[in-house]
Amino acid sequence: MKKRIIGIALMTMMILSLSLQSNDIFKTVNRTVLANTSVKTPKYIFYFIGDGMGTSQRQISEYYLQEISGDKDRKLVMNTFPHSAINTTHSLNTLITDSAAAGTALATGHKTNNGVISKDTEGNNLKTLIESAEEKGMATGLVSTTRITHATPAVFASHNESRGNENDIAVDYLDSGVDYIVGGGLRHFLPMDFTDNQTDAFGGKIYSKRKDDKNVLAEFRNQGYKVRYGLKGVEEFRNDVLEKGDKYLNLFTASHLPYTIDDDNNDKYDVPTLAEITSKGIDLLSKDDDGFFFMIEGGRIDHACHPNDPSGTIMDTLAFDKAVEEAYEFYKKHPQDTLIIVVGDHETGGLGMGVNTDYFLNLQELEKATMSIEEFQGSYTGDRREYYKMIGEKFGLTDLSDEEKAIIDKGMDMVDKGIIDSGNAYKYDEAAMAVTHVLSERAGIYWTSYAHTATQIPMSAIGVGAENYNGFMDNTTIAEITAEIAGLKLN
Ligand SMILES: [Zn+2]
Repeated sequence: MKKRIIGIALMTMMILSLSLQSNDIFKTVNRTVLANTSVKTPKYIFYFIGDGMGTSQRQISEYYLQEISGDKDRKLVMNTFPHSAINTTHSLNTLITDSAAAGTALATGHKTNNGVISKDTEGNNLKTLIESAEEKGMATGLVSTTRITHATPAVFASHNESRGNENDIAVDYLDSGVDYIVGGGLRHFLPMDFTDNQTDAFGGKIYSKRKDDKNVLAEFRNQGYKVRYGLKGVEEFRNDVLEKGDKYLNLFTASHLPYTIDDDNNDKYDVPTLAEITSKGIDLLSKDDDGFFFMIEGGRIDHACHPNDPSGTIMDTLAFDKAVEEAYEFYKKHPQDTLIIVVGDHETGGLGMGVNTDYFLNLQELEKATMSIEEFQGSYTGDRREYYKMIGEKFGLTDLSDEEKAIIDKGMDMVDKGIIDSGNAYKYDEAAMAVTHVLSERAGIYWTSYAHTATQIPMSAIGVGAENYNGFMDNTTIAEITAEIAGLKLN
């Protein structure tokens, strides 16, 4: 171990002198010397990523949990971990990262440009923690509440110049060797023109986005995977007993899994939660004698933050924390062998806690919401009375003040006239944005953006080697430290 660190120090000096000659201003090299080099190598590694989960997303979810439970001492499980650090997230070409570049940093220890999946700017593949774990013979898992081909999972087991090439990313997974793959994104695994008489797990149509006849699901089956999908896949997921050495692929939905708030308020469908998906993954992966590396993404926290949806954000963050709790229960049984890392890839929405001068958050206002803003979008169709009734039912927005009414009327005016605010680059429904901003302000919170921000991100860790994550770091350092602790090789 010591030799290796001296080697790294020498290499760091070399790279530093190289980078001084280039105009590559972001290519700073971080310390990789571990605080404690005497620790043993963890056998079981959990790598949790909350997409878009910044400091405010974590804290507002904890305060909300305290509010609804009536227990002011209640903590998110991730907020109880003994070691923590703060990290910067900028990508190679901009200070405001996207999930592809941020994920690449967390998966490979290298900065790249926004939009790029685990490749450097010359197009070379960057080795990922999962690939290295595979080489070492460890079992590996990759799960997400988004399409499994979305940027954050993609950076761990595929390489592509663009995050948009999700069909290619699906094919890339075929020879990844990943043992447990669960999430959404079925549409990138089915041959063009595919139809099915079952729906997906949330009642949606099963369709293909591929432009070829490749049946990637069938190819996974040929590789020895147990393959499940759609609504039927949910039942099978809950009944499947996985044996040592099994390989498992289960894709519940054509696109992303539903928001937690939508699934919780839907009587007809009950999509497996991230906690259930994590628990089953632990069952399978822990049977491998060589240990495991398990990446678990709460991917829809970011999706809720983009359209400034406070309840959607909180409910998905709490669901993410429930998944962390599954890992923590496992850690308690194997404290000498387990490392859990929880991090976010970037902040989304510029979520601020505190907007009024009365110095109060009123998070109980958010308890009345029963639908995500994304689901709610498009609900205003010209009937204003009906719309006011609906926002009362779905978001508890009754007894509106004149000021609040004016904001919502203005949103409806904009929809009627087909106008979009200049800052609304993703063209969100302005009537729905008016609703979410009124609701947010009632709760005492505020959003500065419909996109990502450059604020630093907290991380937490517990277990074997967790004390090495501390201080003010860069996201690339998290991957470097993890590789060092786990004996994984990155390039
Ligand atoms: Zn995002």
